[in-house]
Amino acid sequence: MTGRRKKGGAAADGAAAAADSESAQHIEDGRRLFAQDCRFVTGALSLDAIPEGTLPEVAFAGRSNVGKSSLLNALTGRRTLARVSRTPGRTRQLNFFSLGERLMLADLPGYGYAEAGKREVAAWNRLIDAYLKGRAPLRRVCLLIDARLGPTARDRQVMDRLDTAAVSYQIVLTKADKIKEGALERLRARLAQELKTRPAAHPEIMVTSAWAGRGIAELRAELAALAR
Ligand code: GDP
Repeated sequence: MTGRRKKGGAAADGAAAAADSESAQHIEDGRRLFAQDCRFVTGALSLDAIPEGTLPEVAFAGRSNVGKSSLLNALTGRRTLARVSRTPGRTRQLNFFSLGERLMLADLPGYGYAEAGKREVAAWNRLIDAYLKGRAPLRRVCLLIDARLGPTARDRQVMDRLDTAAVSYQIVLTKADKIKEGALERLRARLAQELKTRPAAHPEIMVTSAWAGRGIAELRAELAALAR
C-alpha cells in the first residue's frame, strides 16, 4: 500500500469513526427523550378542540391495524398511549401526548377500515385536512405502512394530501419481522423510487418491528432531532 493510500485510509477511518460516534449520540438522544414522561394532553374530535401547538410536533398516521398502537408502545416503552387512544369514543379522535414537554406526539385516527363508507373517509379527510392546514409546529408525519402489504391505494391518497399540504412525512414500515429480508429490500427500493416523485416525502424509509424491537432506537433518534 502506498503512503498516500494509507493516509486516505486513515482519513476515511477517522470519518467513519466520527460518523459512528455521531450516530451513537443520536441514538442516545433518542433514548433519553423517549425515557421522559409521556402525558396525555387531550383528544380532539374537531378542529376547535385541537390544542394550541406550543411544542414541536410529530404525528403518526396509518390504516387501522397497521401496528400503530404497538409501535407507539414500543417507542415510549409504556402502554399509556395505546390505552388512551383505544378508549371507546377516542378511537376517532386526534390524541395528543406530551413527551417530557419537549415533543408533542399526535396519534391520528386509523383510516381505511375495509367497511369504511364514503362518509367515514370524508370525515377523516376533513379532520386531517383541518389539522394539517397551518399546523406550524408540525415537524413531520410518520406514515406507517405494513411491510407485508406495502402501500395501499388509501395510503397513496394520504400521501397525496400530505404532498398537497406540503407537510413533511416519513414512511415507517411496520411488522418487518413478518417478511423476509429480500422482500423487504425490494419493497424498500420500490418505495424509495416512488418517494422521489413525492415532494413532501422524507427520502429515508424507516424499518421497524414493534415485536422484535427492530428500528425502534433509530426512530427515536430520528424524532429526537425534531424535539425542543
Ligand atoms: P393499530 O390498529 O394500528 O393500532 O395496530 P395494533 O398495534 O393494534 O396492531 C394490529 C395487529 O398487528 C395486532 O394483532 C398486533 O399484534 C399486530 N402487530 C403489531 N405490531 C406488530 C409487529 O411488529 N409484528 C407483528 N408480527 N405483528 C404486529
